[in-house]
Parts: sequence; C-alpha cells; structure tokens
Amino acid sequence: MSERTRELSPRYEPGAVEPHWAKAWVDRGYFHATSPSEREPYCIVIPPPNVTGRLHVGHALGRTLEDTLIRRARMQGKETLWLPGMDHAGIATQVVVERELRKEGIDRRELGREAFIERVWAWKEQYGGEIVDQIKRMGASCDWERQRFTMDEGLSLAVRTAFVRWYEQGFIYRGERLVNWCPTDQTGLSDSEVEHEEVDGELVTFRYPLSDGSGFVEVATTRVETMLGDTGIAVHPNDERYRALVGKTVRHPFDGRDIPIVADAAVDPAFGTGAVKVTPAHDQTDFDIAQRTRLPLLNIFDAGARINANVAEEFYGLGRYDAREAVREELHKLELLVREERPFRHAVGHCYRCHSEIEPWVSGLQWFVKVEGLKETAKQAALDGRVRFTPERWTRSYVTWLDNLRDWNISRQLWWGHRIPAWYCPDGHVTVAIEDPAACSTCAGAELEQDPDVLDTWFSSQLWPFSTLGWPDDTHDLRTFYPNTVLVTGYEILYLWVARMIMSGLSLVGDVPFRDVVIHGLVRDAHGRKMSKSLGNVIDPIEMIDRYGADALRFSLARAATGGQQDIPLSEDSIEGARNFANKIWNAARLVLGAFEDDRVELPPAERRTLAERWLLSRHQACVAEVDAALDAYLFADAAQVIFRFLWSEFCDWGLEIEKGRLDGGPQERSDAAALLAWVLERTLRLLHPIMPFVTEEIWQRFGQGASISVAAWPEHHAEHVDVDAEGVIEAVQEVVTAVRRFRARHQVAPGRRFPARVELARDLAQSVEPLAGRIERLAGLEGLTFVDAPSGKLAGETTVAVTVGVVYLPPGLFDVEAERARLTKERAALDADLVRVRGKLGNDGFVAKAPPEVVAGEREKASRMAQRLAEIDAQLAELG
Ligand SMILES: [Zn+2]
Ligand SMILES: [Zn+2]
Repeated sequence: MSERTRELSPRYEPGAVEPHWAKAWVDRGYFHATSPSEREPYCIVIPPPNVTGRLHVGHALGRTLEDTLIRRARMQGKETLWLPGMDHAGIATQVVVERELRKEGIDRRELGREAFIERVWAWKEQYGGEIVDQIKRMGASCDWERQRFTMDEGLSLAVRTAFVRWYEQGFIYRGERLVNWCPTDQTGLSDSEVEHEEVDGELVTFRYPLSDGSGFVEVATTRVETMLGDTGIAVHPNDERYRALVGKTVRHPFDGRDIPIVADAAVDPAFGTGAVKVTPAHDQTDFDIAQRTRLPLLNIFDAGARINANVAEEFYGLGRYDAREAVREELHKLELLVREERPFRHAVGHCYRCHSEIEPWVSGLQWFVKVEGLKETAKQAALDGRVRFTPERWTRSYVTWLDNLRDWNISRQLWWGHRIPAWYCPDGHVTVAIEDPAACSTCAGAELEQDPDVLDTWFSSQLWPFSTLGWPDDTHDLRTFYPNTVLVTGYEILYLWVARMIMSGLSLVGDVPFRDVVIHGLVRDAHGRKMSKSLGNVIDPIEMIDRYGADALRFSLARAATGGQQDIPLSEDSIEGARNFANKIWNAARLVLGAFEDDRVELPPAERRTLAERWLLSRHQACVAEVDAALDAYLFADAAQVIFRFLWSEFCDWGLEIEKGRLDGGPQERSDAAALLAWVLERTLRLLHPIMPFVTEEIWQRFGQGASISVAAWPEHHAEHVDVDAEGVIEAVQEVVTAVRRFRARHQVAPGRRFPARVELARDLAQSVEPLAGRIERLAGLEGLTFVDAPSGKLAGETTVAVTVGVVYLPPGLFDVEAERARLTKERAALDADLVRVRGKLGNDGFVAKAPPEVVAGEREKASRMAQRLAEIDAQLAELG
C-alpha cells in the first residue's frame, strides 16, 4: 500500500465521510443475512417506528444500542440479522390523512372507506417512511433488503392467521363488554392505551328514596350524572346496617324506575356509606357486579359522550360535564342532595392520544383476546429465565402486570388498519377465515358482510418478531432467527408491546420471541427534565448529525446509557465532546500512520518492547476485556467509557507522548514503535467500531487490513500481554508527571520554565522508574531529575508534593511563597464566609420547601463546589509549609 493512500486529511469531516460509507456498506451487501447458515445466528428486530414518524432522540438511542450489539456480533462472525421495518400506526396515520383531507374540505365519510384507504396508501408512498432515511443516516447496519411494513402482504397473512388460530382455540371471542371509549377519537382503546391521572373532581353524596316510602339510602359518587344509568344499589352481604334492605327497591327520582338493592361481596362496607350505586354500562366494577347479580345494563351516552334518549327527556343531548351540573341541580331541587366535597382528588383514565377523559362504554359487539391461558405461560417464561430482562428488576413489573391483565379489546372503529377477518350473514352467523369467504360457514348463505372494524395496531406489532421472518410459513429465516437474540426497547412500551409479543410468540410459534430484553430509560436534558417543545430543550438528532456527525451523536448516547438507570441525560455539549473525541482519534491516527511504513500490522517481537510499550499492551488488553464484559452485560455506557479512557488518556496522552522519543529515534526503534502503536490503534478502532462506525472505518482503511472494518474480526484477547510490573512503573511515572503539572498550574509557573526536581520512591520502584527519567523530564518540563531511595527530608525552601508512591521535592524560588500564602489565605477567608451563607440558606426549611427544585439543587451544587475548593486551598497551604 502506497504512502499516499495512507494519508489522512488534516481535519476530520464527518459530513463528507459518513454519507459515503453509509451507502458503500449497503451497496456491498455487508448487512445482508443469509439463512440457512452454519454460523451462530444473532437477530434483532427493530421496534417498528410509525410510518408517520420522524427520528427523535429516543429512536436514536435505541438504534445506537441495537447497532452496537449487531455490529459487534457481525464482527464476532455470527450470522447477523437486524431486521428493519415500519408500523402502519392505525389512529396516528388516519388522523394525519384526515387532517390533509380537511384542508381540501373533504370529510372521510363522504369519500367512503375504499377511497379513503387509497388516499392513506398514497400518502404513505409520498410522505411516509422519512424515518427510514433518518435511521440510515445514523449508520444503522440493518438488512434493508428485508425491510417490512405491518400492512404488507406477508404480514397481513400473519395477522389473519393469528386471528383465526386464536379464534379456533377460543382465545379470541366476540362479546359485549365495557370498553375504554374515547369520545373524541370515537374508538375503543386497550387498557394499556389509557393513562391514569389525578384530577380535581368532586364527590357528591345524594339519597335514593325507598320505593315503599320507609326512608332513604345514601350513596356517594364522583360522577353524579351516571345516576341516570343506575340500575341497582349494592351493599356488602354481611353489612348489618343494610341486611333488612336487600331485596327491597329504591325509586329513581327522574324516571320513576324501581331499582333493586342487591348484595355483593365486592362492595367495601367501610367506604362512604357502605351502599354504592350501580351503573353497569359506565363503570367496570359496576359491570362486574351487574354480571353477578343480574342487574340490567342501561346505556345513557352516545359515542360522543352526550346523554342519549334512554333517559328522562330534560337531560337529553347534554354533554357529560353539562349533565353533571344539571343532575346535581335537579337533585338539589328535590332535596336529595346530601353533601358535596370539592375539590376531590381522584384518578381518572385519559386517552393516550388526545387526553380526553375515557368513558367506560358498551359500544356494541367487539372482539376480545382472552388472556386466561396466554398470560400464565408468558409469566412462566420470565420466571424460569427463558426471557431475561435487563435490568433484572423489570421482571417483577412484568409479572405483576400480567397478573392483573384483563381481556384485550382488539376492535378499533377506524378504517386504516387490518380489517377484522370476520363476516356476518343476515341470520347472525359468524364466519372467521383467513381468505375472504364466499359463503356463511353455518348456513352457506352467500350474503356476507365483513366486520367494519380494524384490529388494534398492537395486534400486528405483537407478531413482529416472527411475522417479519415469514411466519406462518415454515421458512429458513424463521428457523434460523427465531427466537430473536435481543430486543432493545424503552420501558414505556414494556406492556403495550413486549409482554404481548411474549404471549403471542409462545402461543403461536411455540417459543419465546427473544432471549434477552434490554430496557433503557428515557432521554432527558442535562438537568434531568423531559424534553418538550414548551421547555425548548428538545434535541433534534438530525440537526445534531448535521452539526457534529452521526458518530458523535451515537457515542454520546451510548456513553449516557448507564445500566439500571431510568433516565439518560443528553446535552449538545456532550455531543460536541464526542465530536472532539473523534477529532482526537483522527489526529492520533495521523501521527501513527505518518510513522507506520509496514504493509502488515504486526507486533514487534517481545524482546524488543520497552517497558512503556509493555504497559500500553497491558492496558490495551484490559480495555478489550472490559469492553467485552460490559457489552455482554448490555452495559453500554461502561463500554463507551472504557474505550474513551483508553484512547484519550492512555493511548494519546501517555502512550503517544512516551513513544514520541522512539519515533524520533533510529530506523529500528522508529519502525518498532510505529508498528506497536499501529497494532494497538488498529485493534482499538475495531473495538470502537460498533459505537462509532464511520470515523473508525475511514481511519481503518489506511491500515490496509481488508475491505471494511464492519466485516473485520472482533479483537481477540491476549492474556499474555497483561503486565502488572510495567503497569506499576508507568503509574508511578504518571503520578510524578501529573504532580509536577498540577504544581505548575497551581502556582502559575510558566510552561516553558524548566527546573530540577528530586523524587523519592521505594528502592525497587526507583530502579525501574530511573531509566524513564528522560521521559519524565520531557513530559513534566523538568531539567535534572534525581532519585532518592531513602526518606531524605525536605531541603531548605523546597516545596513537597505527595504522590501515592512517594514524594516529589521541588526547588525554591519558582514562585513567591509569601505572596502565594497571602493570596490563598485571603481567598480562603472569603470562600469560608460564602460557604457559611449558602449552608445557612440550605439549612432553612422555608427556603428548601418554597424555592423551585432546580434553584435548591443549584445551591447544593454551589456548596459542594466551595467545600471542594476549600480543601484544595488547605492542601496548597500545607504544601507551602
Ligand atoms: Zn382520544
Ligand atoms: Zn349464516
């Protein structure tokens, strides 16, 4: 390889390098997986982003962690598949297209179902999938030839097959149940799509007159309007106060219905009056009571949560909040209102999309997945370790969630999505089939109407780990890559998605969908705040890539992704810092490549290695071992930090500095030093490649070791390079140099000013360090370094600096001791007074309670900074003697 192609440009330009490699890798087919394969399979499926989506930092984090795992596995020689794709995202997409239509003055209902769906597909072709290009810009090593969409043909077959199989096995049924109804979006939602939030509401107590006129029963409610739909009063069977009343009736004050008083063990006798009103059509608990006690359902709302015609005329057409006022007013007039408590804080379910209050509502017949029989096996898989959660504590949340899981409503009153594969004949028979049926399966009648609803988006995404591999067909891909190796995801979709994939995978394919689930936290700003438009602290990953490069974004995300922690702090500063890291590596590589003249990257023989070189190899081996251990445990931040420390500090700041002498030496010395540095750097590039793919590839090319680092071998371990003695000696050198540098900085001694020093070390250490005296002198700017092996004490006027391995003595006259002492003493006094003031503030409960938390945190930080500086001053004063 000629010298010319080895040369690196003076500056690293990610904007020029990244697009080139992103395309070249894909064009050369490096990311394409093969099945069947002799190699060990390694598979990750991308959590499919919404087709309407744009890349946000959460996506960027997930893709960075996945790519890190995938690229490493590929370099380890595994048959590696990272399968990309997108989700059709039922409601989200329908809303976007409806908005487009409204701009043209068109309502989707005028357009009709078929035309509307055509519009959605057209929209998808034109605008959808922007996020795929954004993921490509990150350098994601996906097998783009296998890209899937939840509504493509194969996945649609998987959805229908899953539905029919579960229907035949009794896991899918059609029933009239209460659903979580969003009156704004006018669709049912699953329990996981409902967000429970505390609101300031009211608690109203009122009384029902007994039909026989013998008295009253008091009940309390936060939703007094629902009394219009009461069909019973329930009390606990053992409640003495009401025992005589069970079986009697109360009279509804507005429509005169007689409502039975029933006994049910679900009633808590200690709550309120011990008697509860029962509104089976608008409350899940009441619905359950009504099922047991055979109370009828009385639906009082239409789909928009307005009072319907089932109740007294005076309330008809009122919205639910107006109805609340009106009913309360009427009860008051009838002297039935007993008490009003306001505000009354209680939890209310809200729609995860539009934030309207959820209405428990009977919306006609809907389809459900029965979870009894599915959830037990899914729970067992986590308990016996077939699925492992990282961090492990999520296992418990997962199990608890499954324990409380109720049947899953999968009908959605939308047009965009997988239409439910169920058909009804005029006689009410239901035909469920994979292919559109020609006739009713019961009466053979040809007149069939398909269910108008579509399936919950999560119904198709729960099949993602196997539908994308060709299921229900028995494909090579499925046999090779199922179960997937790892799933990487944020904790916010652990239940919505992860748990359901485990249930469906076990039930439909017969095995867990993945072995490991890695759960990461939310990306927040540097102060731990959620990123939001209103706070103005949103970091746009594409903007960051434009500014600093994808490598910088990836490295800063990986470095922040500490294990077990929920939140991941990210700032533009940290991304800029990662860009500087890329530049540092680039500059180091220029230096090494400038001296490296061999064609092969090979270590010089052991007998020609210097002590410093043995140290560098030993530290490098430690780095490889630590990175492997960290990535095996999914500790991404640790892996990033270990490489950062090694490259920045050990390789650049010490290794290169120490080796500079040899690089300027004779031909053999120069060639040996360059070869060793090249060997270490080349391997470290491979180690860093999974996190920073671009800059590592661009530099690695110059070593002439193969076509691409992305398919190079992962660095092997060299246990024989571990050298404890060399590490001890170089650590001593580092300590002495650092101590002198710190002394210079502290006393403002000019960097060019050279002076002698004496170093006192234990005898055998001194013997090993002495040959490096010249290096120490150069690194610390000394002139005349003497070693003393016995405690010699301080000579007149000397300043002593303690290091852990001994003492460094520095000569008098480098600075004005008296002026320095006076300056430090003054600074100390001022600082001390300030610290007392800040601590007083923090000791004041009023301040701590009333000031905004970030102000309090700021003061705490200030106090700790001051205390630190005080300790420093004290150490400096002690040094002055
Ligand atoms: Zn909604
Ligand atoms: Zn029929």
